[in-house]
Amino acid sequence: MTDRPVALVTGAGRGIGRGIALELARDGFAVAGCDIVFEPGNAASGLFEVKAAVEGLGGEFLPLRADIASLEGHDPLLAAVRERFGRLDVLVNNAGVAPLVRRDVLETTADSFDRLIGINLRGSFFLTQKAARLMIEDKKADPGRKPAIVFISSISARISSPSRAEYCISKAGLSMAAKIFADRLAESGIMVYEVRPGIIRTDMTAAVKEKYDGLIAGGLVPQKRWGFPEDVGKAVAALAAGAFSFSTGLVLEVSGGMDIDRL
Ligand code: NAD
Repeated sequence: MTDRPVALVTGAGRGIGRGIALELARDGFAVAGCDIVFEPGNAASGLFEVKAAVEGLGGEFLPLRADIASLEGHDPLLAAVRERFGRLDVLVNNAGVAPLVRRDVLETTADSFDRLIGINLRGSFFLTQKAARLMIEDKKADPGRKPAIVFISSISARISSPSRAEYCISKAGLSMAAKIFADRLAESGIMVYEVRPGIIRTDMTAAVKEKYDGLIAGGLVPQKRWGFPEDVGKAVAALAAGAFSFSTGLVLEVSGGMDIDRL
């Protein structure tokens, strides 16, 4: 049990999820972080490194093993959060994957398509459905709660990359999921937001670092730098803190200005 508001962050073992977990902890949330990679013996990286980092800030962190694409794992995941902390205030749907191989849209395989939809869209959609039902009941029992759900989509929800169509389509679908949940849950006092990261320096982008170094230097990103996990983490923390209390459905791009139409 905890006196703090509680957040569940999916894919919290590294990258953007790690950054979100740390910023939420800095803002006073107790954080449960789940990941498909779960290595209690590994203190150098992964969920248990994040746990130590959060505890170093004076916070609380519960590491949980979960594959969000596996729907039967959702009830036990949510139950584990409530068993340890007694409540769930914020869900951050961050876990996501890129295609294993970038292929032109004329060569996209059904396996890669199904994998990305399964993890990036279907998993987050149904986890949100379960979490929302709990949040509705909690809010009825305690109207003082400020529940929120944040979807981490991508600029790929709106920008075409023909070499990873399945990724863009999964993120465009996730963007609509955020809008629909925002619409449906507004009457229950549950805020729903979409955060669209731009080009963020993580393991996911490590394989294309040189390509993006060149594009950023060439002016693709008006702020002329990579984004970092803490840039996204700070945006999520601001949303979770309730600073946007009349803006459910807000789409917040964290991309250094890539959404500015330029000539
Ligand atoms: P990452 O690969 O560095 O980290 C993703 C984490 O999610 C890993 O710890 C991984 O183990 C976990 N994960 C993967 N599949 C999972 C599953 N089925 N169940 C539970 N956990 C799972 O990636 P990142 O760059 O930190 O990306 C995080 C999110 O941000 C993703 O949804 C990604 O699409 C999105 N995003 C990233 C960028 C970027 O430039 N890095 C840009 C836009 C959006």
